[in-house]
Amino acid sequence: MTASVRTRILFEKLVTMTGRDYERGEVWVKDGRVESIQDTVTPGNPAPTIDLTGHLLLPGFVNAHSHMGLCALEGKLTPRTPFADWILDVVAANTALNWSDRVGALHRHSQTMLSTGVTLLGDYLANPELLVELARLPFRQVLFLETLGFPEEDAVARADRVEGLVQEHESQGGRIRLGIAPHAPYSVSAKLLRRLKVIAQNHRCPISCHVAEVPEEREFLQTGEGPMRHLLETRGVFNPRWRPPELGPAAYLDQLGVLEGLVGVHLNDVAGDLDLLARRNVTAVFCPGSTRWFGRERYMPVRQLLDRGVPVGLGTDSLASNESLNFLRELKLAEEMLPEVSRAEILTMATRWGAEALHSEAGTVEPGRCADLIAFRMGSETENWFDIPFENGGRQVDWVMIQGNPVPPHPGPMEES
Ligand SMILES: [Zn+2]
Repeated sequence: MTASVRTRILFEKLVTMTGRDYERGEVWVKDGRVESIQDTVTPGNPAPTIDLTGHLLLPGFVNAHSHMGLCALEGKLTPRTPFADWILDVVAANTALNWSDRVGALHRHSQTMLSTGVTLLGDYLANPELLVELARLPFRQVLFLETLGFPEEDAVARADRVEGLVQEHESQGGRIRLGIAPHAPYSVSAKLLRRLKVIAQNHRCPISCHVAEVPEEREFLQTGEGPMRHLLETRGVFNPRWRPPELGPAAYLDQLGVLEGLVGVHLNDVAGDLDLLARRNVTAVFCPGSTRWFGRERYMPVRQLLDRGVPVGLGTDSLASNESLNFLRELKLAEEMLPEVSRAEILTMATRWGAEALHSEAGTVEPGRCADLIAFRMGSETENWFDIPFENGGRQVDWVMIQGNPVPPHPGPMEES
């Protein structure tokens, strides 16, 4: 369909994730955005119509943390203890990948995400050359430029490179927005962390970081010892003159001025930092499949963060630490792992809170907002809406629209006769 045509979508039930739901009505879409929502169906309207009668309509899912550039590592790695050994495995396996395998896997696995309802992706992009491939994916995207650099000497050069990329893509707008991602507090120097924060502020980019993923991270920042030090030494980037800040990960980032507004990924080891995270407007991304894959016993205190008003989204993480990018599977794992969080809340994590975590306008269905929608065929009349995505067998969604365009192979509008 052409972007300026008004299209209406008929639905059985619409859950907007704003607190207002509708039964048997229609959503009008124009220029990629929701124009209006009504709780009746206009009879005999000649406008192009997508008939989703008998379907539950929701905002599209938000995969708030992934590494699409690592899709070709599917099945190549196993969990390792300490975690630093897994990182060394990833570095080795990643270095051995060839370009066509990397790109082919990226496109193949993006189909799994799409067919399981993801319309907005928050990805860590380590290799900017992949931008052209990511731009071919149908998703709305927040691409965080992933940056490492423990030696202080090249902090300025690394930060300048990131700023150059941000400037280059600033004017492009549209479906793709750039963000900045210092990899982790143990792999990025204080100087680089500070500079990246300034770049994010100056260019109004979201900034994200893997934070408090494993206890060894706290050990390293507090004592300067442990497996993380060994990792940096093995990689040849440790500086023996470096002195630890003697703080936990969240307090350390706060001391550097980096914590405010941060998109914190994992946050497994933050039990003593919950109020600080809430005060600094941190948003969080919980990765159920990856957390399960590593067999973590302590993981993000999602209930406590939600109770403090911290938006928590869901992410698949990469196929170097997850079996699949099937997002419906992540919903089910979240339910198993978060017994104190309801299905309705998990679906809010998968939509509105995920979008809030990424500082994106998606995640709700509202006039003026982007028309990123998914639909599930409904079963029996008595079903609660929030059971449907969990009980469709984890297969796939029945229809997807991104930016007002139905995504093939799902049906587009038909002229009413
Ligand atoms: Zn990650």
